[in-house]
Parts: sequence; C-alpha cells; structure tokens
Amino acid sequence: MSHEKQTQEFDVVIVGAGLAGLYQLLKLRQLGLTAVIIEKADQVGGTWHWNRYPGARCDIPSLEYSYQFDESLQQEWNWSEKYSAQPEILEYINHVADRFELRDGIKFNEEVIKAEFDEVNSSWKIKTSASNYESRFVIFATGCLSVPNKPDFEGLENFEGQLLQTSTWPQEEQSFSGKRVAIIGTGSSAIQSIPLIAEQADQLYVFQRTPNYSIPSNNGPMDKEREKEVKERYSEFRKDNWQNGFGIAAISDESLISETDINEVHQQLEENWESAGLGFFGGYADIPLDANSNDVAANFVRNKISEIVDDPDTAKILTPDYHIGGKRLCVDTGYFETFNRENVHLINLKENPIKQISSLSLDADKTYEIDTLILATGFDAMTGALTGIDIIGRDGAKLKDQWENGAKSYLGLGIANFPNLFTVTGPGSPSVLSNMVPSIEQHVNWITDCIEWMNANDKKVIESSKTAEDDWMVLVNEIADMTIFTDTKSWYNGSNIEDKAKAFLPFIGVPVYTEMLEQVVAEDYKGFIFDRVN
Ligand code: FAD
Ligand code: NAP
Repeated sequence: MSHEKQTQEFDVVIVGAGLAGLYQLLKLRQLGLTAVIIEKADQVGGTWHWNRYPGARCDIPSLEYSYQFDESLQQEWNWSEKYSAQPEILEYINHVADRFELRDGIKFNEEVIKAEFDEVNSSWKIKTSASNYESRFVIFATGCLSVPNKPDFEGLENFEGQLLQTSTWPQEEQSFSGKRVAIIGTGSSAIQSIPLIAEQADQLYVFQRTPNYSIPSNNGPMDKEREKEVKERYSEFRKDNWQNGFGIAAISDESLISETDINEVHQQLEENWESAGLGFFGGYADIPLDANSNDVAANFVRNKISEIVDDPDTAKILTPDYHIGGKRLCVDTGYFETFNRENVHLINLKENPIKQISSLSLDADKTYEIDTLILATGFDAMTGALTGIDIIGRDGAKLKDQWENGAKSYLGLGIANFPNLFTVTGPGSPSVLSNMVPSIEQHVNWITDCIEWMNANDKKVIESSKTAEDDWMVLVNEIADMTIFTDTKSWYNGSNIEDKAKAFLPFIGVPVYTEMLEQVVAEDYKGFIFDRVN
C-alpha cells in the first residue's frame, strides 16, 4: 500500500471548507477532538471561492451575513459596503482560517468519493480522490448550492469560444470588451452579473426561460455610523435574526396587507422597495402566506418593471406571472435598467427554446453569432453534493437510493440508517430560506453540543429514527403548504433539475425551528436513537 493510501484516523471527518466546515473544525478542536476537513477546491471559501463572476455579492447585509461566534472577530472586521462583494467575503473567510489557525486541519484538492459506515467498528470509512480516512463521525458541510447545474444543450461540446459558468468562474479576470456575449439563465447569479457584463460587452444576449422578481439593493459604502451603532450592541442586534421567519433582521413586520389600507400598503411597499432589499418579501407578514396579499406585492414589482424598462415588449417578457418569492427573490444593482441599453437583447426561451449550440453561435429564434457563452443555470440544490458521494449506511443503505423519491432528514441534521453522520444546513432545515451564516452556526453548535453530550453520557452511536424523520418531513411539507412556496417551479422543490424528485425541502420559519431544536435537546435528543441494537 502506498503512503498516500494509508488510512488516516480522526475522531471526525468534515467534508467542505466553506463557512460551515471551517467553524465546525474550530468547534471540534475546542472540544479536544481530532478532526480534519476534506475540500475538493484548492482553498477555503466554498460558495465564495467558486462564484467569482462579476457582481457576485451577498444579498443579506454583511453586518448580518457574517459569523457571530467570536466577539473580537465581529468587532475587528470592517465591511466596506452594505452588501459585500465576493472578493471581500473570501478575504474574510481567509482571515477566519488564519486567525483561528485552521489551515493545518484542511486537506485541499481532495474530493470525497465514498463514505461507508462500518457497523462492526461503528466508524466511517471515507475514500477520497487521494487518500483513505476512518473516523467515528462524519459531518457533511458540503453546501446547499455547491453542485453546478449544467444543462445538456445540444451541441454545447462543440462551442469553441470562451465558455464560462457563474458557479465555477475562473480565478483569472475575464474580459468581455468588444465581445458578443450570450448568457443563459436569469436567476440571482445572472441578475448580479448582467449589468456589469453589459457595460463591457459589444453585444449581450440574455436568454431567459423564466423571469424573476428583483428588488434594488441600494448598495453603497458601509454607513460608518450604522456600523458603530451595531457594533456597540452586536449580540443584541444578532438576536433580531432569530426572531424573523427568514432569519433576516432587516424587516420583521407583523402587519398584514389584507388588513391595511391599500394606499398605506403602496406607500410602505415603495419605502421597502427603496431600502429593504430581500426584506421586501417580509415587509408584510402575509406576503409569504396569502395569495391575494402576495399578488399586491407582486403587482407592485411588476409595475416597477414596466416603469423602468422602456420597451413595453421587453418589459412584458421580464415580468413574472407567479407568486413573488415562489422562486428565490433576487436583489440587484441596475438589473432592469440594463435592458434599456442598446447593446442588450432579451430572448424569450419560453417562445423560442435553444435549438443548438455550434462552434461560435447559438440557435434559438434565429442564429446568434457569439464569442462568449455564460451558463448562469444554477445548482442541483440542497441534495446534489450529498447524492454525488457514494454514502453507504446501515445494512448497505445507499443515500442516493434512499432519497430517490425525495430527500428526508430529521431536523436537517441526521438521516435514518446513517449513524454518526450529520449534515450542516441539510434538507428539512431553514437553510436556504434563512440567513445562512447564523443557520450554519446554529447547526455547528448543535452538532458539537450533541457530540459532547454523547461523550459525557457514554453514548457511542447516534442516528435519527425513521419515525422522527418521516414525521419531520410531514411537518416541513405541512408548513410549506400554508405558504405560497409550493405552487411555483423552483430549485426549492427540485423542479430545476430534470428527473429529480419533486419535494419541497427547506423548513419555513427560523423561530419555530429554533424552538423545536432546543426542545429536542431538552428531551435528551428526542427522535434520535443511541447505540441501537439490531
Ligand atoms: P459551501 O460554501 O457551498 O461550501 C461547501 C464546500 O464543500 C465547497 O467548498 C465544496 O467544494 C466542498 N465539497 C462539496 N462536495 C465535496 C466533496 N465530495 N469532497 C470534497 N469537498 C466537497 N446565502 C445567504 O444567506 N446570503 C447570501 O447573500 C448568499 N449569497 C449567495 C451567493 C451565491 C453566488 C451563492 C451560490 C450562494 C449564496 N448564498 C447566500 C448561499 C451560500 O451557499 C451560503 O450562504 C454559504 O456560503 C454556504 O456555506 P457552506 O459552508 O455551507 O457551503
Ligand atoms: P437559479 O436561481 O437556479 O437560476 C438559474 C437560471 O437558469 C434560471 O433562470 C433558470 O430558468 C435557468 N435555466 C436553468 N436551466 C436552464 C435550461 N436548460 N434552459 C434555459 N434556462 C435554464 O441559479 P442562480 O442564479 O445561480 O442562483 C441560485 C441561488 O444561489 C439563488 O437563488 C440564491 O439563493 C443564491 N445566490 C444568491 C446571490 C445573491 O444575490 N447573494 C447570487 C447568486 C446566487 P428557470 O427559472 O426557468 O428554471
């Protein structure tokens, strides 16, 4: 056996060196355990390493979209903008890796291919592209939006120009100057990048299948007074995240559109449009819940689109007809305005689907000669990174098969038949319907406390019970059915990937979820089985 292939033993193997994996490593080290992160990229950052397209930035204010576990860290770090751009977020994550001396615990350029539970030894045997590991626990911090969706466009392999995908953007700067650029997709990634690419490109062709709602970010340099005021009461400020259904402190209004004078509603929506960004969706408590109220907010945005976009036909194609928020709401800087530029052209794929891609052209309603093709086609969200690994649990259960008809998880943390395996922000947790950094910290703290409790109580193996898992997913769906989320095709329910089981996966409601999580612990990890005997 070669040296590289010798099995390396740890208490815990963590997969992924994004915001989740790094904090998980720190917490386990603080507990005195041996842990390693395996990361397929050549550096830390996860999302913020892979998505380097122009305009990539967070759409939750940086004062909220950041770690809160260390008071000195949150005091010493200064964000330059309200919504920081990808390079600054990546710099922050690197700072965290250095400040907490995490780098020596990370194996870069190694992809986890297989993880198999050994029932005799109650341990995980993990095979990567370079080595083998054995550990008592395995924690998947593999991300909800980390597996690019690359549709099988006819002839794509024949394209000879510059081919880019937003989710695997090269580290070197890309120039569009003087180029004819095509971009496929109009989700958040496209909506952030299109205005900047349009400024450089000779011609920009935007190929849209479904239009999206987008709210202006009103981004700008960090308001230093605001930053000072927040930092003076940071832990108090963070508490607001936990009281809002979507974990965002920006707006948490309990009033209902249905019970408010419509002129007052319009005035408030105008104010929210000007300042709230994503918080627009939570501006009234019934926007996510009631179809009629949702329609009032949706119509408000539809009207904005027709006011901003000069050409009525273009405005019409850009106008969504589904519930606002049904697909993940977008936040932009000058997106709709960009369609008033002479070098920007919108192609409606609903009427004219892409027929073929050739060496330097794309055929839809006509042939477009292009130099650059950008795929902004999203992700195999929430489950893709997990089903992409050959994960084998008790009695040879394969995760991919177990999830064939839809992913199931207890609390988004544990999976029946997969002992001593945890997922950070897994399906069935608020994850993508929340501010993800606090949600990541919540899960990492919970997992670490659980392992500590197991050690203190002499428990060797934990797994979620099948009943607890089934009941949990029923609850996830019952809550979702009370909202506007379920009748729109979106990546929340797997509709963006052909052949993927259609199941709504995020838990809606951060405060309720938090309460339930605490209750499970208070009842000695109710719903989990310890040291199961077959
Ligand atoms: P990731 O950052 O996705 O990290 C997972 C890591 O696991 C990756 O580095 C990946 O390479 C690695 N990995 C996966 N599989 C394997 C394997 N088999 N072997 C080895 N390594 C593996 N959320 C918000 O709340 N607010 C925002 O403003 C926001 N903006 C976003 C912008 C973009 C462009 C995208 C794509 C997502 C955004 N998100 C946002 C969601 C974002 O993914 C999370 O906020 C957060 O960064 C996730 O961190 P993570 O560590 O859980 O996962
Ligand atoms: P996305 O929202 O899934 O958008 C993908 C786009 O590609 C959609 O317009 C989709 O159309 C289109 N598409 C997919 N397959 C296609 C095909 N075969 N033919 C034509 N069009 C196709 O992906 P994303 O923009 O990368 O964003 C994903 C998520 O990441 C966001 O929702 C958000 O949570 C996060 N994100 C956040 C930010 C931010 O602002 N901070 C930025 C980027 C990403 P359909 O809608 O018709 O499927």
